[in-house]
Amino acid sequence: MVRAKREPRSGGKLHGFAGGRSARYSAFELVRHGMRHGEWPRVWRECDLRSTYDVVVVGAGIHGLATAYYLATNHGMSRVAVLDRGYVGGGNSGRNTAIVRSNYLTPEGVRFYDRSVELYEHLSADLNFNIMFSQRGHLTLAHSDASLRTMAWRAEVNKLEGIDSSVIGPEEIKRLVPYLDVSDGTRYPVLGALYHPPGGTVRHDAVNWGYARGADARGVEIHQRTEVLGIDVEGGKVTGVRTDRGRISAPVVVNCTAGHATLVSDMVGVRMPVITHPLQAAVTEPVKVFLDAVVVSGTLHVYVSQTDRGELVFGASTDPFASYSMRGSLEFTEELAGHVLELMPALSRMRLLRQWAGLCDMTPDFSPIMGVTPVEGFLVDVGWGTYGYKAGPVAGETMAELIATGRTPELISPFGLDRFGEGRLVGEKGAASVGH
Ligand SMILES: Cc1cc2nc3c(=O)[nH]c(=O)nc-3n(C[C@H](O)[C@H](O)[C@H](O)COP(=O)(O)OP(=O)(O)OC[C@H]3O[C@@H](n4cnc5c(N)ncnc54)[C@H](O)[C@@H]3O)c2cc1C
Repeated sequence: MVRAKREPRSGGKLHGFAGGRSARYSAFELVRHGMRHGEWPRVWRECDLRSTYDVVVVGAGIHGLATAYYLATNHGMSRVAVLDRGYVGGGNSGRNTAIVRSNYLTPEGVRFYDRSVELYEHLSADLNFNIMFSQRGHLTLAHSDASLRTMAWRAEVNKLEGIDSSVIGPEEIKRLVPYLDVSDGTRYPVLGALYHPPGGTVRHDAVNWGYARGADARGVEIHQRTEVLGIDVEGGKVTGVRTDRGRISAPVVVNCTAGHATLVSDMVGVRMPVITHPLQAAVTEPVKVFLDAVVVSGTLHVYVSQTDRGELVFGASTDPFASYSMRGSLEFTEELAGHVLELMPALSRMRLLRQWAGLCDMTPDFSPIMGVTPVEGFLVDVGWGTYGYKAGPVAGETMAELIATGRTPELISPFGLDRFGEGRLVGEKGAASVGH
């Protein structure tokens, strides 16, 4: 059973915010702002830091911003501060390869990520900001009988959850990606692929800025260059945070710091079963568009997509050591190039323009850690490994519901911190290690 394609929600939201500040420009205004530097209106306010808020969110990546946005939009809570020691999207939310999909391995994972795909489908309209969500199709290649079996397993779980996902053969793969070498004579022949038509990519900066602008328009305060140095707890309850700009009282503090989750949770003595690894990516010079789908090979530890500007975006699995370093390495580039050319030999003359890294908090089961902790008022939305960008909308929506109602939404109840003590892991390694 494959669910029919969803109809877009009715339009009508494309004209500004409830907060009243219209964000639309006429063509004339766009040209005028472009010609005269310094005249662009601010997209979100720069506010004085207050001494008290109802909720403090630590981290202005997609998770922190989406949580604040849905708190204000869905629950009318706007006495909310989002604090970041750097700038909006300066962490992993501005460093990822922006793949969005829901073809995971466990029913819990599939349901959760599918709600995010659904939210992404309407996000441009909801935020009045073009997030360039392109559902171009996502292919996970199988180069052995064992991985073909895993793809068939995933396809069955996906179908049971109503997700458009199936195993296809080399001929169909060649039709979708003509530049892929599917001949028998290669070192890692392509035997088949898991094909997921709704998967694709977004423009990550647009999503980050859209959520920041939407939250700000509803009264949320975004404080960049504001580092949380400590979290105060009295009688087992959170009372506030200490920052490099002063103390703030708040009964609820949410940790949305992918890559730094253990350091912030250590401030209240809550240990996270997380190990932090660097993850690198790279991009080529732009060329004429020739690659429509997103192509992933778990066996070769590589994936590739093409942006609307024509650059090829490459990624891989995490560096095999724990570190907070965000340096790119020559080993990564060499291995990446070798593996990409196994798949698409015709790319041999393309030039890499740049490479970069982010920090990924890896959990033992490759699923996130979301919800309450033993410290009352200290909530976590962390453990996002290499796969958390696609989850930003649903994580924000569900964390906001938890904060506003005090009840853990069903979609995130499998991902609580207590699962590690109780042995209820949600094993997603087979679907999340390279595919992101
Ligand atoms: C190279 C790469 C490719 C990826 N590709 C994909 C992909 O294709 N698809 C996908 O779904 N996911 C992908 N990911 C994962 C994804 O980027 C992350 O899971 C996601 O962006 C996490 O978002 P976040 O908002 O939780 O954290 P971040 O965006 O990392 O934001 C956390 C913020 O917390 C701030 N912070 C930390 N400590 C403090 C403190 N003490 N005080 C104040 N602020 C603090 C940081 O400055 C940072 O801005 C990729 C990651 C990388 C690195």
